[in-house]
Amino acid sequence: MLGGVALHPNDAPQHAEGTHESGLSYDEAFAEIAELARGERIRVVGETGLDYFRTGPEGRDAQIRSFRDHIALAKELGKPLQIHDRDAHGDVIDVLERDGAPDQTVFHCFSGDAGMARLCVDRGYFLSFAGTVTFKNSHGLRAALSVTPLSQVLVETDAPFLTPHPHRGAPNSPYLVPLTMRTIADVTGVTLETACETVSDTSNTLYGPW
Ligand SMILES: [Zn+2]
Repeated sequence: MLGGVALHPNDAPQHAEGTHESGLSYDEAFAEIAELARGERIRVVGETGLDYFRTGPEGRDAQIRSFRDHIALAKELGKPLQIHDRDAHGDVIDVLERDGAPDQTVFHCFSGDAGMARLCVDRGYFLSFAGTVTFKNSHGLRAALSVTPLSQVLVETDAPFLTPHPHRGAPNSPYLVPLTMRTIADVTGVTLETACETVSDTSNTLYGPW
């Protein structure tokens, strides 16, 4: 198995407040993550970032502190950083600008518009698209994809969530990734084969071979 480790942005405030079910303080929890992240089979530090959808304003300071600690950890270890950004685009970018992003930075389940995609592309970030990009009403997300060079595109399931069209509502699973890849090929104007080969190469470069 390969993997990634991090304190999720919705857990970080609970550690900071001492209410997390694990009983671990923030410092104890982060120390454990930092230790695990050194493992050879841990290929990415994430998902970390900011989530203003599930966590209210009272949790923001703790989320930002945790995000910054994970950025520093990814840099120290030379591993990719994988960002969870939910309804927090502005502050995620602010933190990255302030601290400096790791060389390899991935926005998982990218949910920004074309303007944010351009900003991320300019900085060399990778944008990972989930089944949401196939939804009929996701015009903004497809516009974001259309301004992203294929070489900076990744694909993911976020299973069991974000199931691609036409199976929206059913549990998501890796066998449905081809539906998302088809949309990626269509929007970026390449054949499905080219899209798959390019995304596969990018994934191997970022995360290493299986
Ligand atoms: Zn996430």
